[in-house]
Amino acid sequence: MDVRTNYVYKRTHSGYRNDEDSGMKELYIAGNRTEAASGASYETLNPADASVLETVSEAGPADVDRAVAAARAAFDTGPWPRTTAAGRAALLTAIAGLLQRDREALARTETLDTGKTLRESRIDVDDVTAVLRYYAGLADGHAGRVADTGNPDAVSRIVHEPVGVCALIAPWNYPLLQMSWKLAPALAAGNTTVLKPSELTPLTTIALVRLAEEAGVPPGVVNLLLGRGHTVGQALVAHPGVDLISFTGGLATGEKIMSAAARGVRRVALELGGKNPNIVFADADLDTAVDFALTAAFLHCGQVCSAGSRLILQDAIHDEFVADLAERAGAIRLGDGLDPEAEAGPLVSAAHRAKVERHISGALAEGATLLAGGRRPAGPELAAGFFLRPTVLGGCTCATTVVREEVFAPVVTVERFATEDEAVRLGNDTDYGLAGAVFTAEAGRAERVARALRHGTVWINDFHPYLPQAEWGGFGKSGIGRELGPSGLEEYQEKKHIYHNIRPRPVRWFRG
Ligand code: NDP
Repeated sequence: MDVRTNYVYKRTHSGYRNDEDSGMKELYIAGNRTEAASGASYETLNPADASVLETVSEAGPADVDRAVAAARAAFDTGPWPRTTAAGRAALLTAIAGLLQRDREALARTETLDTGKTLRESRIDVDDVTAVLRYYAGLADGHAGRVADTGNPDAVSRIVHEPVGVCALIAPWNYPLLQMSWKLAPALAAGNTTVLKPSELTPLTTIALVRLAEEAGVPPGVVNLLLGRGHTVGQALVAHPGVDLISFTGGLATGEKIMSAAARGVRRVALELGGKNPNIVFADADLDTAVDFALTAAFLHCGQVCSAGSRLILQDAIHDEFVADLAERAGAIRLGDGLDPEAEAGPLVSAAHRAKVERHISGALAEGATLLAGGRRPAGPELAAGFFLRPTVLGGCTCATTVVREEVFAPVVTVERFATEDEAVRLGNDTDYGLAGAVFTAEAGRAERVARALRHGTVWINDFHPYLPQAEWGGFGKSGIGRELGPSGLEEYQEKKHIYHNIRPRPVRWFRG
């Protein structure tokens, strides 16, 4: 069977359709593409114009049972957990190669499904490839260690073993990327998996699973469920056959998942939201800091867990900075992500945009000042999509609701500070702790502030870069555990201590 992926879309009168493979997109269970047991399906939309992209199967509890049973059988009796580290690395490397072969089609699909610009989607595919290659390299080099027993007749080893069946649940903002941060280390460690992408953006995860199939993943090692979080997602995390749940998404869902994982004491890793401070001191280069503040807040329309959505400016530069920022935010060119002239796309859905608009009007009612945006784009050409102008809200304090709650949108709030101590206090005055940044020309201050901020990542004079080899995750309510880096692999490993007495003799503790 030719399992080469077909996901090139073209625009037709009814929107974008898959060029060569226009059948319904199905679940993938035990190495087979299969419809949902109920026969249910739903449509996924292009947020740039609300047109239908694809019809996909909608799984229910019976499909969850089938997928978990397949993953369970593949773990308990299949070859994958017993495959050598070199064999596991080879599969990840093969998938990485296929991702690069299909780079353009994958990037296009991600843009159609999420609304982000093609430029961003191409970067995502390259980053996903890098993550797969990184964990291919780590699979072999992170096998365990030897401990000193203090006894020449005994050997002690710590070996790493896979946890078991892993439920991997990803959000809609970086569908391919977030799923790969889970799938790559889960496979590198020898686990079997059940994937559940967001109902809003399933297409690149479907493609990823087909690439894994093409690369030769054994049946049952990667299973795919499509459908809604509160039905199929909930049934998956409640399933007693699941040993580990890795979830990226919002705080409220994370709390539900943690309580579901408590039943049966299953392992859980949570990557939740952020309310990330971007602190700018007066000695920073103004043009550079404004430029970074724009990308921090408005990349992918601010639908980024680590977006710099809280700008915290020193008094001396506040007015000039804000004027510059508002002017440049007002000039950002919105458009369909496939349009090479577009600098930012739409929000993911009409419901999400409505929620963001409620946040903005709430902030204005609480006394914030609208300095840019706050409205949908004028003119008919973008009217069908879920667009919202990049928004700057001045005059905010820690008490403003929009400063405390994650908006997940192109909305940046501006606060101000006088001293370094105050900047740190404001930067830490949040329930979250995912990421933050400090811009200053003074290296000593940069280091002091970076160490004082209680966030999982701190950028100095930069914003957004992350590395496959560097841990990613949050303090506080931003989550539990770490993705990426060696810790990202350890989330998917059990550590077993094997103590070997190589000259057993009676110890005569008891004299009888
Ligand atoms: P949600 O929490 O709504 O959903 C995330 C995923 O969980 C989706 O696949 C969703 O499915 C599924 N889900 C929803 N409800 C349940 C449930 N009861 N049981 C199991 N699964 C469920 O988040 P969003 O999709 O709205 O994503 C945005 C959030 O994700 C933001 O808060 C953002 O900060 C966070 N995020 C964090 C990142 C990080 O690295 N820390 C990275 C990216 C996003 P469905 O969509 O089908 O409902």
